[in-house]
Order: sequence, then C-alpha cells, then structure tokens
Amino acid sequence: MSTPDALLVVVLGLIIGSFLNVVIYRVPRMLEGEINETLSLPSSHCPTCKTPLKVWHNIPLLSYVVLKRRCGFCQAPIHWQYPWVEFTNACLWLLCLWHWGMHPTAFAWAIGLSLLLALSVIDWQTTYLPDALTQPLLWIGLLASSWGLTDVSLQHAVWGAAVGYGSLWLVASVFERLTGKEGMGAGDFKLLAALGAWLGPLALIPLVLIASVIGALVGIWLQTTRRMERGGYVPFGPFLASAGAVQAFWGGGDVFFYINWLL
Ligand SMILES: [Zn+2]
Repeated sequence: MSTPDALLVVVLGLIIGSFLNVVIYRVPRMLEGEINETLSLPSSHCPTCKTPLKVWHNIPLLSYVVLKRRCGFCQAPIHWQYPWVEFTNACLWLLCLWHWGMHPTAFAWAIGLSLLLALSVIDWQTTYLPDALTQPLLWIGLLASSWGLTDVSLQHAVWGAAVGYGSLWLVASVFERLTGKEGMGAGDFKLLAALGAWLGPLALIPLVLIASVIGALVGIWLQTTRRMERGGYVPFGPFLASAGAVQAFWGGGDVFFYINWLL
C-alpha cells in the first residue's frame, strides 16, 4: 500500500462518506413522503436554519473542525454523526486498500461496505432498512461474484441470497406464530440476502450467531443502563452489517473459516 494510493483512497472514502450522510438523512424522509427532496436537490443545507451551505462547508471532516461543530449561519450544533460517518467510511475504504491492494475487489467491497454503513445508521435511527439500499447491495454482490471479485462463485452467491432471505423469514414466521409479536422486519431478510450474495451461504451461520449475541448484549446493556425503555427494540440490521463487514476481511483465513469448515 503506497502513500499516494492511501491518500487517494482516504479522500475518496471521505467524499463518499459525505454523500452517505445525505443518503442517511434524506432516504428515510423521502420514503415517508415527509420532504419534497431528492438526493441531489435541493443542495445541502443546514437542517435547522435551512440556509444552503457554502462550498467549503461541504468539505468532509475539515469543515466540522473549522466551523467548531456549529452551523456557520445560525450556530446550531452540527451532529457528531456527520463527521463520524465520514471518518468511519474513510477507514473502511483504507481497510479495503490494505486488504486487497489497488484491485477491483477492493473497490467492490468498498462500495458494499459503504452501503452497509448507511444501512446501519438508518436502521439504528428509524428501524427501517430501505429497499433503495438493500437491493443495490444484493445486485452489486451478485455482479461482483459473477466477475470473480468476491471469494464466492456465482452459484454460491445465488444460494447465499436465497438462504439469507429464507432462513430469517422462517425464524421470524415461527417467532411470530409462537409469540404473536413481530421480531424482525422484511428489511432484515433482504439485508441477510444481500450479505449471502457477498459471502456465500455457509458464512451466514457464524454471521447470524455473532450478530445475535452482540445484538442481545447491546440490548441488555441499553436496558440496564436505562438508555432504552423496557420492551424497547434494538434494530438487528447494524449487527448483521457489522458481522458481515468482519467476515469480508477475515472470512477466509481464521476462526470463521474453521467454524464454516466444522459446520
Ligand atoms: Zn443553520
């Protein structure tokens, strides 16, 4: 990994991260018909005073620091989520470069991980996983496999998608029959279908196990520290997405590989 490559990838990751912030803010509102906006129009503006941002206000991370975490017009605080998403996305892109080098595989996974990041934040905030993001993630995963960019053959990618959707659908249906409560949404099935297309069917077993355990632990922690009401709901998507991201980098060579092999 050369320094110019790393710099280029970090800058690209920050720019895409900045765009993800727009996606995270606007897509759920567009779907609910709450705002009359598209991804490109109107131009970026302060959510408090609605003043359109100046060009340099859109520079990732840097503008947050220069503006001292406040809107340049109305002084309303800028949420830490904006720089956090930019920073996290740049880190993910750099990880891809480090893991795969300057190769189309790195680029494919970088796009996939960016979609997973946006989905995680949206699900955490709204408990929705929009089709507008889960479907491209599925199709890009299948295409990447067809071009030999992922570790799974196209046949395994298709099976992964079907098994991912079907297994969660089955679990959710049984759970609903038994308890009368809805435990997971169709968005979770579609997200696991997409992850199955990227990682293959066998990888989904450790993925779901890890996501469930960590999700349950976070849920218990949120309840005992009273950050969440009793009977509250922890969205599953961020945990599925994180476990998928971990598998993207370390799915083939260590503990997961052996779990897969044993199963
Ligand atoms: Zn403002």
